[in-house]
Amino acid sequence: MAKFDYNIIVIGGGSAGLVSAYIASATKAKVALIEKNKMGGDCLNTGCIPSKALIRSAKILSYIKRHREFGIKSATAEFDFSEMMERVQTIIKKVETHDSVERYTSLGVNCFSGQAKVLSPHEVEVNGAILTAKSIIIATGAHPTIPSIQGLEKIDFLTSDNLWDIRELPKNLLIIGGGPIGSEFTQCFARLGSHVTQIEMLPNILTREDDEISQALRQQFSREGVDLHTNTTCKAIVSENKKQVMVFEKGGQELRIKFDKVLIAVGRTANSKGFGLENIGIKFDQYNRIIVDDYLRTTTHKNIYACGDVVGPYQFTHTAAHQAWYCAVNALFSPFKKFKVDYSTIPWCTFTNPEIARVGLNEKEATKQDIPYEVTRYRIDDLDRAIADGEDQGIIKVLTIPGRDRILGATIMSCEAGNLITEYVSAMKHGIGLNKILGTIHTYPTMAEANRFVAGNWKKNHAPKKLLKLAQKFHAWRRH
Ligand SMILES: Cc1cc2nc3c(=O)[nH]c(=O)nc-3n(C[C@H](O)[C@H](O)[C@H](O)COP(=O)(O)OP(=O)(O)OC[C@H]3O[C@@H](n4cnc5c(N)ncnc54)[C@H](O)[C@@H]3O)c2cc1C
Repeated sequence: MAKFDYNIIVIGGGSAGLVSAYIASATKAKVALIEKNKMGGDCLNTGCIPSKALIRSAKILSYIKRHREFGIKSATAEFDFSEMMERVQTIIKKVETHDSVERYTSLGVNCFSGQAKVLSPHEVEVNGAILTAKSIIIATGAHPTIPSIQGLEKIDFLTSDNLWDIRELPKNLLIIGGGPIGSEFTQCFARLGSHVTQIEMLPNILTREDDEISQALRQQFSREGVDLHTNTTCKAIVSENKKQVMVFEKGGQELRIKFDKVLIAVGRTANSKGFGLENIGIKFDQYNRIIVDDYLRTTTHKNIYACGDVVGPYQFTHTAAHQAWYCAVNALFSPFKKFKVDYSTIPWCTFTNPEIARVGLNEKEATKQDIPYEVTRYRIDDLDRAIADGEDQGIIKVLTIPGRDRILGATIMSCEAGNLITEYVSAMKHGIGLNKILGTIHTYPTMAEANRFVAGNWKKNHAPKKLLKLAQKFHAWRRH
């Protein structure tokens, strides 16, 4: 008789939960997956997929606007916002088969639709039934953080959760938050034709990136008609002449902006409370994230693991999937074999136009951490393919250890940066330096060549001066 019904119970059917369940079932473990809402979680239903689908429509409109640059005399676009939003839903429907109950059931996962409640370190209740397992993986994600702004609770505000229900384009859209999600939506809605005002409390948008990168994006937003206010705090929402007005403070001054809709994008709070974890003593940090050790085990119960947005420190689909592998493998094979989670080469990308992608350190972080570095740059306006495509804007910055061919990090601001960054992720993961990137044939003409050119710049800066002097003498001698 088995002591437990399952090897693993996974709570949450988003990126983290699905990958955990997939890996567990692929290794022939008995696994239950419990999802209370929609399979696929945020990424599929309200995050990556819908946002990228809408950004695509907005990008096409932006090209139509630039038609003259491409030698097209006249081009205008008529569109129905509601049709665009329906397209987003069609795309979700297309992708959702990957995350469906049918697919996971066919993989051998027992899927349950309902709210899970953790009763004890080995028992979970769903739909009135009690399931038992040797290990539990918590993958319950996060939800939009709602700041305390007086009057906000009285209006129908938007977040990334309910934005997908609107069918009318907001005329005057206020976006609160200058992080990746707020910035992607800012450009997207500005391109769709909303008048967008973006408000950020800090001195810049995308503050994790180097100032020159944030600054360049700021300039791009300004060219696209965005009203951006940094160092600005929202105070209250009031009604004036039947119009909604945001009262905010900037540099000691009180300002007011009228708006039709406000979109809150100030971060995401972990879904860690209200389903039993508090009752069994699981510990949380100041942001409500579950505290885990290097093996992604909760610090209080070594058989309870957690991954994805509910843990952080990164809130991306690919990091959720990365952590999920460690959770599933450690839960199934520990104590015989267990692996420490490796965050050394985590890439990310903000899907503005140009995109901003990074892996490893940038100058801001290296300086803060007192890590010596050299920086090598390559400007995208020099790249043949970028010029041909009208995408000749941006920069690549690669940080290396001074005097050594060891990459510490790379930032790319360019079209396709999200794809281009992968070369540095591979290089860093496998200990490859810029010399090897330079020695790799890159297809001409592609954006990817930019990676070779930045490596070329690094090589030029490290050219062996004495050897080259000798070579010069040798060639002179050969001419005699
Ligand atoms: C607008 C937006 C754009 C984004 N764009 C990108 C992007 O381009 N690239 C990228 O990498 N990331 C992006 N992200 C982030 C990405 O969506 C998340 O990091 C990722 O979805 C996290 O996966 P998760 O499995 O941890 O959580 P989730 O996807 O939130 O899944 C958690 C699931 O758990 C379920 N659940 C919670 N509690 C219970 C319970 N008690 N019982 C049963 N089920 C429960 C929830 O219903 C949910 O389905 C974006 C996010 C947003 C909001």
